[in-house]
Amino acid sequence: MAFSLRPDRVFASYREVTPELLHRRGIQLVLCDLDYTLAPKRVKVPDQDVRNWIADLADVGITVMVVSNNRNPARVAAFCEPLGILYEGHAGKPGTGGYCRAMERCGIDAAHTAALGDKLLTDMLAANRAGVWALMVEPLGGPVGPWNHFLHLLQRPFKALRKEK
Ligand SMILES: [Mg+2]
Repeated sequence: MAFSLRPDRVFASYREVTPELLHRRGIQLVLCDLDYTLAPKRVKVPDQDVRNWIADLADVGITVMVVSNNRNPARVAAFCEPLGILYEGHAGKPGTGGYCRAMERCGIDAAHTAALGDKLLTDMLAANRAGVWALMVEPLGGPVGPWNHFLHLLQRPFKALRKEK
């Protein structure tokens, strides 16, 4: 179990995480954060871009599952159910329990799994601890509120230290 905040790669948005990129790496499962990764927190239902992205990944046999720390189960369910994808809510990242349960439910191991998220202290730390490919995205819609602005400022040097350019 590695304690590291360094993401493997950083992208402007989940849309840049293409089926080709994941396929080349042998990824079969993408564990996706929800808030500010697939949608800003205020957006309750998935838009067409999210639907298209998940469909494009499914076309090459890659499963997307949401693993969210959001404590409101209705929020996570309302977003994921229209997409027809599995989810783990209240996941407790940076604990690895949510990612491990998700991989077990899908029958896919860490070597073939990527995690996607916008926060180092939860998403990326959990990804590194779980031994999955750690993919970071800029917060969708931009950081909201003073705390998130501060957090994203703190994240900047770690993003610059990403393992793969
Ligand atoms: Mg997030």
